[in-house]
Parts: sequence; C-alpha cells; structure tokens
Amino acid sequence: MKQNLPSKQGVMKPGRVEEITSTANPRIKAIKALAMKKNRDSENLFVCEGLKLATDALDAGWSIKTLLYSKNAAGDDGLRGRIEALSTKARARGSDILITSDKVLTALTRRDNPQAVVAVVEQKLASPDEIQCDPGTTWIALDRVRDPGNLGTIIRTCDALGAQGVILVGQTTDPFALETVRATMGSLFHTHLFKMDEESFIELAQSWRKTGGQLVGTHLNGAVDHRSIDYSQAPQILLMGNEQQGLTDDLAATCTHLALISMNGRADSLNLSVATGIMLFEAQRHKLATIGAGA
Ligand code: SAM
Repeated sequence: MKQNLPSKQGVMKPGRVEEITSTANPRIKAIKALAMKKNRDSENLFVCEGLKLATDALDAGWSIKTLLYSKNAAGDDGLRGRIEALSTKARARGSDILITSDKVLTALTRRDNPQAVVAVVEQKLASPDEIQCDPGTTWIALDRVRDPGNLGTIIRTCDALGAQGVILVGQTTDPFALETVRATMGSLFHTHLFKMDEESFIELAQSWRKTGGQLVGTHLNGAVDHRSIDYSQAPQILLMGNEQQGLTDDLAATCTHLALISMNGRADSLNLSVATGIMLFEAQRHKLATIGAGA
C-alpha cells in the first residue's frame, strides 16, 4: 500500500483526493484485505469506523494513511461539516482522501448501515522500556486474552480509570481487529499497549518486585480478598488470566498476591472484562474524585 512520506524539506505533502464508487477498485480491495490479521500485520495498518474514532485517532497523533467518507453524507449538514473538517485536517497531515459510495463502505465494514467515515490507521505498540515502576502507577497485564470484545472493553476501562497501559502477554487476540477497535470506543488511541511473551513478562515481573512494585494476580484459588490489598502505596500490575484457563502456573508464581473477587451466586467465575473492571476500580478507588452531596 502506498504511503505518504514527508517531503525532502520535512514538510508533510498533502494526501491525494480520489472518488471511488466500485468495490473492485484495487485500493478498496487492499483496504478490505485488512480484515485479515496477516494483512494487517504485513501492512502495519488497521481499519477503524466512524467519525468519532477517526477524529480520536487523528487528535491523539496516530497516523491516518487513508480516510474514506461517503459522498451521501452530504445530505446531513452538521455531519457533512464535521467530516469535511476532519478530511481537511487529515489531508494536511498526509492522509489520502477517498470519497466513496455507501456500497463501498458497506463492503469494507460488512455492515448494512455503514458509518459515513472509515479510516485506515498505522498500528502502534509502545516499547516495553516505557513500563516504569513509578510511584502511583497501575498497569494491567492480560495473559493470552482471546476475546476481542473483552480486550476492547478492558482497553476502554483502563482509559476511563487512568491506568498507565495494557500489557498483552503471550498469544493474544489482535488489538487491531475491527471488533476490538469497535469495543474500545476510541480508547485504543489513548492507551499505551505493550506485547511480550510469557518469559519476558516474568523477567519484567521479577525486576518489578525487586524495585518495590507489587504484582496482583487474580485467581479463582486466590488466598486474598481483592478488597483487603493496599493499592495506595506501591506501583502495581494487575494480572488477569485467560478466559478458559486462567493464569498459567508460572505467571501465578510470580505474583506478590493472588486475589479472589468474592462471589456468592452460582456462577463459577466472572467474565474477564468485568473482573478487570472490578480490580481496576478497587485499585484506583483512592484516586477517584468523590462526587455528590457532602463532597
Ligand atoms: N476457568 C477459568 C479459571 O479456572 O481460571 C476461568 C477464567 S475467568 C473467566 C478469566 C479471568 O478473570 C480469571 O483468570 C481471573 O483473572 C479473572 N476472574 C474471573 N472471576 C474471578 C474471581 N471471582 N476472582 C478473581 N479473578 C477472577
């Protein structure tokens, strides 16, 4: 896929504008191919849908390679103005602009009522060197998360509660899959994401503990009530297990605490993203502003 590069003077060349109405157009086919992980990986790109997500991506400094919008969005004045403003800004930063038919957008997003805007964005993962054991920080680590909806929801929750980032451990679902990106509701663009294998995470966990950080694993055989841990002192990583298998024994062995979220109903366990939300709220409780009467 052709990329826009800064000119020799270091000034970004504005992207090109093209009108496309055929789903057989090679550029549309190349974007459609990004539905497959192997193509996303080889191109280092992914697709996000909707004006909000495309605006979030651009505002957060992610690189939009191509912005597509429906020429039929012209019927709605407010929407049209916002799309045109986004398109102008994106083009100035080098994005190509494709003005398309709804048929093309439907083919790209596989939705009957497609969004009026689709963006093709460059993938971005943070370097593990950025994971610093600094006072007051809370990180989430996910052991082999499989479900795109869970991952997207967890990224959104981390963004909402001010966690520093999400560490993906081992073979995980793709954070740049359309379903994950949809579930993040734009939080993907505000969250630092890291990827590492289990061995590297265990090394990180060991040095984390040596420098005074705590590593709270969540486990159905946890010996500690998750509400009894002091989250207000040490930097912490909250480690969550795989949806089917929970944490591996090696990961569980690296934890300072193995916490159980107590339950008194009949379900065996909580959904992973719900459990992560409960842990994050507890860990960040002391930092959340109090609202309401008497505050
Ligand atoms: N069958 C799996 C097991 O035996 O661990 C269930 C995994 S559960 C669906 C997915 C993850 O959510 C768990 O590995 C754990 O991290 C977290 N989790 C769910 N319910 C929990 C609870 N009540 N206490 C602590 N962690 C929980």
